[in-house]
Amino acid sequence: MKFKATIVALLCVAFAIDTPAQSSMAKMNAFIDALMKKMTLDEKIGQLNLPGAGDITTGQAANSDIGKKISEGKVGGLFNIKSVSKIRDVQKVAVENSRLKIPLIFGMDVIHGYQTVFPIPLALSCSWDTEAIRKSARIAATEASADGICWTFSPMVDIARDPRWGRIAEGSGEDPFLGSQVARAMVKGYQGDDLSRNNTVMACVKHFALYGAAEAGRDYNTTDMSRVRMYNEYLPPYKAALDAGAGSIMTSFNEVDGIPASANKFLMTDVLRKQWGFKGFVVTDYTAINEMIDHGLGDLQTVSALALNAGVDMDMVGEGFLTTLKKSLQEKKVTQAQIDQACRVVLEAKYKLGLFDDPYRYCDDKRAASEIYTAANRTAARQIAADCFVLLKNNNSLLPLRKSGTIALIGPLADAKENMPGTWSVAADFSKAISVLQGLKEGAGNDARIVYARGSFLDEDSLFEERAGMFGKAFPRDGKTKQQLLDEAVNVASQADVVVAALGESAEMTGESSSRSSIEIPQAQKDLLAALLKTGKPLVLVLFTGRPLAIKWEEEHVPAILNVWFGGSEAGYAISDVLFGSVNPSGKLTTTWPQTIGQVPLYYNHKNTGRPLPEGKWFQKFRSNYLDVSNDPLYPFGYGLSYTQFTYGNLKLSSNSARGNQTLTASIDVTNAGKQDGKEVVQLYIRDVVGSNARPVKELKGFQKIALKAGETRTVSFPITTNDLKFYNNDLKYDWESGDFIIMVGGNSRDVKTATVNWQKAP
Ligand code: BGC
Repeated sequence: MKFKATIVALLCVAFAIDTPAQSSMAKMNAFIDALMKKMTLDEKIGQLNLPGAGDITTGQAANSDIGKKISEGKVGGLFNIKSVSKIRDVQKVAVENSRLKIPLIFGMDVIHGYQTVFPIPLALSCSWDTEAIRKSARIAATEASADGICWTFSPMVDIARDPRWGRIAEGSGEDPFLGSQVARAMVKGYQGDDLSRNNTVMACVKHFALYGAAEAGRDYNTTDMSRVRMYNEYLPPYKAALDAGAGSIMTSFNEVDGIPASANKFLMTDVLRKQWGFKGFVVTDYTAINEMIDHGLGDLQTVSALALNAGVDMDMVGEGFLTTLKKSLQEKKVTQAQIDQACRVVLEAKYKLGLFDDPYRYCDDKRAASEIYTAANRTAARQIAADCFVLLKNNNSLLPLRKSGTIALIGPLADAKENMPGTWSVAADFSKAISVLQGLKEGAGNDARIVYARGSFLDEDSLFEERAGMFGKAFPRDGKTKQQLLDEAVNVASQADVVVAALGESAEMTGESSSRSSIEIPQAQKDLLAALLKTGKPLVLVLFTGRPLAIKWEEEHVPAILNVWFGGSEAGYAISDVLFGSVNPSGKLTTTWPQTIGQVPLYYNHKNTGRPLPEGKWFQKFRSNYLDVSNDPLYPFGYGLSYTQFTYGNLKLSSNSARGNQTLTASIDVTNAGKQDGKEVVQLYIRDVVGSNARPVKELKGFQKIALKAGETRTVSFPITTNDLKFYNNDLKYDWESGDFIIMVGGNSRDVKTATVNWQKAP
């Protein structure tokens, strides 16, 4: 087979015959050339317009406002519309009523699952299981496409180091290496091997670029950073997603170097097209073109022209392109070639999705009933969720819980099923989500008694509670006072053998426009926790959050903490699986958790500075530190416990000196020294000791998630090549430099075994 492929390739080169890929590309080009010849300027501009669907109802599409625009060829795609019947209706308007019958592309924010909801992306990344992540995206694509959708605004790959920023929940955390692996897995999951199949959807990488570096963690805020940081630390996941074949990319709201992303030629043309060779299409974020008026870049016509000039192809919602590009062309502010090019890449996306062959390709009436929210999908979501939870503390092996006696489940998040799926779960049916209460009751069966009390408000401040309970996730107050709720909870706890407190953030306390200046558990819930601890009962904190929280007090006072993020529609079952021990937790943090908000931004791959604090010290005058808190995180990047214990032997290198492009092997024995089978994420970090610019104290360069039986030892090996040593220097040249490299392997970024290699370029 391989031989045959080689012969075909050789023949193609020798006789200048097109490869299959080239000939299908030639076919696509010929088709689009012919189509574009027939298109008027207005029709071309129409393809660049992406309105939201509004409230189209089945049977009414043609008569709706949007339907009229579609008939006039003024719409290229629609988003936020789901169900085969609605999408078929709208597509019918496009392919029957519009002059050229060009099909629409249908997009949606399918971020972490569709109706079967997987954990929020930050949680998914904590599984460190790229195959599971790929699978979650595959299932999401299958379900979404069974409901008529062919394009998802995912993956979100923005590196984020500031937990105040609510959208940290939507990405993979602080590390560019891990972020790149996750980005790749998600694109592969969504797009599969063939975009034209009816169960794959086109990915849209977002938000390009640097959205996660918003100043002060305030959403949509300005970002500004050096090119060296940008290339080394923030851009890699976007590139990884595009290298994996993502068909589209979305601009971000923020400015970069003083120019909002949607008008940023450096980003959209120089980096994206010229340096990375991206061939897909660029869509703006929601009204991002119009928002450049407020950024102070000019009126709608000006900012729309700036966006097209910069390399934007499609305008989401704001209709700046639709209403001004023609005028800008007449006034020579944009060129015909730019409009043609944008139109071409949008049409190409539709072609690749197979919509010109069959505009109803994703409108199979039968699929939804048998492919959405299936038992198999829900099982996968339950298993994956359990692997994302991070056990932060487990004194005296309080967990897993025994299935006997009385368990008091207490807290405002214990019986809040709407809250389980987490932010951006637009296709979820909240009524079907599994609460912790339901999960524990079913998990305990007749073996243990579960008693419940709400215990507190989400937050004392009812206005805050309203903001934190939007989109159908409200926390209605039932007329009880704070004291009554507390008394009830203490009373219920006193009858129990063990207390499980389900506390933390609500789903809408993270996500878009959900930044916080405090990252602690709301005070009302802290008061509840303190009252429960006073009962003297053993207490497990089941912590809900979409961001790293500052929980120093809790770490000091609570014997066991299981961080469950927002685990999706099946999370209640998954939490029960882990609490009762049928699943041994194996998640590891992908963000550093600070002791206090004042340390933020705090990330593991920081620079050393010229005045580093000696290890193990808190304060030394004239060193880089704080008077009132040590430099240490509460929990380091990569941290997470298990019900078993893993021990690491010494790190061995195949050689302590290397030359040129050889491969070095780092190996270590990892032992499951406990009594239960478990999974461990073995992590490889490298420090480049001397560089032409200052290098981070360590950088993740590899990881392996391994399953070990109780008592088992396995040698884990990492091949290391010079690719792992490369970085962008101050001239933005990507290369490695000779010298010493400290190789580190361990179960988190802090507790590592080390060895040093001297690696020289000269042979
Ligand atoms: C968000 C995007 C999202 C878009 C469409 C915007 O507000 O920033 O992430 O894809 O809306 O819903």
